[in-house]
Amino acid sequence: MSSKTLAILPGATLGILGGGQLGRMFTIAARTMGYKVMVLDPDAACPAGQMADTHLQAAYTDGAALQQLGEACAAVTTEFENVPAASLIALAKYCRVSPGADAVAIVQDRSHEKSWLAQHGFATAPFALVYSEGDLDEAFAEIGAPALLKVARFGYDGKGQARVDSRDAARAAFREFGGQPCVLEGFVKLDGEVSVVLARDDAGQCALFPVAENRHADGILDVSIVPARVADDLAETARTMARAVADALGYVGVMAVEFFVADGRLLVNEIAPRPHNSGHYTLDACVTDQFEQQVRVLAGLPLGDTRLLSPVVMVNILGDRWQHDGPHWDTLLAHPAIKLHLYGKTTARPGRKMGHFNVLAADPAAALDLAERMRGAL
Ligand code: AMP
Repeated sequence: MSSKTLAILPGATLGILGGGQLGRMFTIAARTMGYKVMVLDPDAACPAGQMADTHLQAAYTDGAALQQLGEACAAVTTEFENVPAASLIALAKYCRVSPGADAVAIVQDRSHEKSWLAQHGFATAPFALVYSEGDLDEAFAEIGAPALLKVARFGYDGKGQARVDSRDAARAAFREFGGQPCVLEGFVKLDGEVSVVLARDDAGQCALFPVAENRHADGILDVSIVPARVADDLAETARTMARAVADALGYVGVMAVEFFVADGRLLVNEIAPRPHNSGHYTLDACVTDQFEQQVRVLAGLPLGDTRLLSPVVMVNILGDRWQHDGPHWDTLLAHPAIKLHLYGKTTARPGRKMGHFNVLAADPAAALDLAERMRGAL
């Protein structure tokens, strides 16, 4: 696409399906650049609704709301993978939509995603598809213990996952998940985890952000460290693989590829068809952040410069911090090189992502040290 003829310019309205924190940060970026934003989300108190020009409070499958969104907006994107593909197809009748329904349909279902990755030659953890208890015996014989049983759809942040060490445990977990389609995955001994966020435009041009080194706690991202403390050739391979995934999907928009590092090799864990938690460091540490990039690619503007301006550590703030006397924001805000981002969520629950902070320092080790001290003090 030629950005000269088809670019959507400030003053136009952009739409987003989903009003969580990712939608909120997209909305802030778009409004900063002079666009109007319409958010579709059924939740009256959703984080993006507080920032948008218009919040359509309706289900993602509501035909009238989709029509209203599509007619009001020059282009619409999404902030979560579980958006019904049919809604994207319906919206595409009215306006430009990215990412496309085909790519979202592949990555929103773990069994499709894993099969697609294997078919396209991308290394993954060993896996087997499980549609019935009968499949489980064969799958367990193939994968062996220890393994993880993961629901194919609607699992996130370690939810809908169970570690299983025996065939009986696998059967029990399958029943507990209500017999829904699952993937049985071999448990990989991880040296670490990394991710790459990138944007790909209609013309197939890609802009890749620097590789993030990620640490998880209880299946939820805890900390991202950038630049990742891995060998240069491994970081370059991660970027090359992420780009190859985007090319093979024919993806248009911002996406993330999460990798396991095991035995010095990269295994693709997951693809996210949206900006990603491990890309929140870009908000304060890159020339262009991942949400501005989402606006740019949606509007058909040239992709922004993804250069890293400073080493950075991003720390997630979960609802667990609200359990006692609440977080000590004063300690955090007293530090001149820490940037706090809160998502405007009114109810804190353990494991719920309430915000994050970015720590900028001269090198990743210093940033990590300060991040850990600040987290302790929170
Ligand atoms: P997921 O939601 O599948 O990305 O899993 C969340 C986190 O659980 C990952 O980032 C890993 O830290 C861990 N995990 C998931 N699958 C595996 C696996 N097959 N082997 C080892 N660790 C895993």
